[in-house]
Amino acid sequence: MFRRFEYVSPLNLQEAIQTLTKHEQAVVFAGGTDLLPGLRLKSGSKKLLVDIKRCPELKGIKEEQDHLSIGALTTIREIQQNQLIKEKYRALWDAANVFGCLEIRNRATVGGNIVHASPGAESGTPLFAFEAEVEITGLQERRVVPIREFWLDAGKVDLGSGEIVSRILLPKHEREVDSRYARVSRVKGMDLAALGITVVVIDPGSPDTREIRVALSAVERTPYRNSEAEAILSHRELDDSIIAFAKERLIASIHPRETSLRARPEYKRAMVGNLLERLLKEMGVYR
Ligand SMILES: Cc1cc2nc3c(=O)[nH]c(=O)nc-3n(C[C@H](O)[C@H](O)[C@H](O)COP(=O)(O)OP(=O)(O)OC[C@H]3O[C@@H](n4cnc5c(N)ncnc54)[C@H](O)[C@@H]3O)c2cc1C
Repeated sequence: MFRRFEYVSPLNLQEAIQTLTKHEQAVVFAGGTDLLPGLRLKSGSKKLLVDIKRCPELKGIKEEQDHLSIGALTTIREIQQNQLIKEKYRALWDAANVFGCLEIRNRATVGGNIVHASPGAESGTPLFAFEAEVEITGLQERRVVPIREFWLDAGKVDLGSGEIVSRILLPKHEREVDSRYARVSRVKGMDLAALGITVVVIDPGSPDTREIRVALSAVERTPYRNSEAEAILSHRELDDSIIAFAKERLIASIHPRETSLRARPEYKRAMVGNLLERLLKEMGVYR
């Protein structure tokens, strides 16, 4: 069943925020790939769509002094086509490559992906592992929040009424960094992740100083960093016994929900260690 919605298309961010603040039933509309299917299903849903696509402040990928700034309206396709992201933030690029299909990647935005806050959202683990920050603009103030504090629960983020996510900030690397993302899904092709993992390796060539970050999605209610696996893997040569121990602890530490539509907990446990090992091998830090 199709519902009728009012629609406005403000020309800048302040106008969009004022509209959101004035109208209780207003909702931000970016690519619409989560919003529109959701609104069609709900009764009594919000009725004023505030299309932010014409707001110039929300667009573009720019290198700034100490971070890479990604406008909230950046589409997954733009991430996929960005050479700097491919070279420096490879896990985010990997995630864009497995995201939906071309039509969805052309519309879906990174801002929409984090605000929708699905536990398996593709951009979740790369942003957690790169320690991204989220810039939020409201009527009176602009604030910047670490992604781990922004993403509160499944479908719930730290965003007040009248606030818009304006940018995502990825810290510039001070040391050499490599990274990868992988997921498993029910079908090859278009599906959401049944399990996602990002591994970031800082100082790949130097075991003593090397830091390894491991972020998981679709095993808890939000993406998160697995500190136990990180502690086992960081600051040492990786041999078979270390990898076996890291996999064992990783598997023991996750508690996927029984009711997931996409995969049984047993399957997630069986896959998570294999994905970790595969990504470490792809980056050449374990052979
Ligand atoms: C066929 C299909 C395949 C998909 N495949 C994948 C996939 O492989 N991986 C994956 O992670 N997701 C997938 N998705 C889900 C969806 O495409 C993504 O979550 C997408 O990134 C949402 O972005 P959007 O711009 O379309 O957001 P919208 O649908 O416009 O908005 C989503 C939510 O965020 C809010 N919002 C959007 N932008 C902002 C902002 N800047 N500030 C404040 N609030 C904002 C909206 O009000 C709404 O609540 C798929 C969806 C479909 C329909």
